[in-house]
Amino acid sequence: MFVGVFIVCAMWEFYAPRRALSLTRWLRWTNNLGLVGFNTLSVMLFMPLVAVDVAMLIEQSNLGLMHWLGLPLWLNIFIAVVILDLAIYGQHVLFHFVPWLWRLHRVHHADQDIDVTTGVRFHVLEIVLSLFYKITLVAVLGVSVWGVIVFEILLNASAMFNHSNGRLSNSWDAALRRYIVTPDMHRVHHSTRPQETHSNFGFCLSIWDRFFHTYVAQPKCGHQDMQIGLPIFRVPREQRVDYMLTQPFRRPKG
Ligand SMILES: [Zn+2]
Ligand SMILES: [Zn+2]
Repeated sequence: MFVGVFIVCAMWEFYAPRRALSLTRWLRWTNNLGLVGFNTLSVMLFMPLVAVDVAMLIEQSNLGLMHWLGLPLWLNIFIAVVILDLAIYGQHVLFHFVPWLWRLHRVHHADQDIDVTTGVRFHVLEIVLSLFYKITLVAVLGVSVWGVIVFEILLNASAMFNHSNGRLSNSWDAALRRYIVTPDMHRVHHSTRPQETHSNFGFCLSIWDRFFHTYVAQPKCGHQDMQIGLPIFRVPREQRVDYMLTQPFRRPKG
């Protein structure tokens, strides 16, 4: 699913790009995808359990809220997707407003362009913390194995879709935005203007930003002229894997 969605999004932004990229694709793609490789390997080596293992254990032991209630599978999956999406929205807000968490999350925002590879660019410590958070929620809520699988696929696909540099007509954007986060909606979140950086926290469903009043419809400078990234990490070497990994522990001027 990851590879399939990645290829579709990459082709979309190649044939119908929304914005011109400011850095070479070679520099960003090799490093963004290099970081994904590093993260995947680290999690595989150092995390004994992931969310789907926990869901399996919980299901076998009949623990967790939804198993106690004896909900049918389809309802378990539906509730899991909605509640976990809300929980990820909440986690994203926390990563912006708790200073040491923001240091980790800055790696995602330090990308000076936004495309499909930005959607998978996160610091390994942010990924590990998210995993613990997700595992706790899966156990407490009693999310089924299929609930975890469907949610992981949806979250991953949404992240790649809403970071795509693909062009979408205004009418399509407006129609989709009523339900899900579109690339234009999420691009606002990658603006260097702080009022815009700290808005549009949703990943899959767009309802949470409207409900919690964190929604900004369009960037002030327009999608073509807005500046993407963070004012403090603007030299090209900050896009390298080794620099990304140390960004949380450095305090550059700016
Ligand atoms: Zn963010
Ligand atoms: Zn993002």
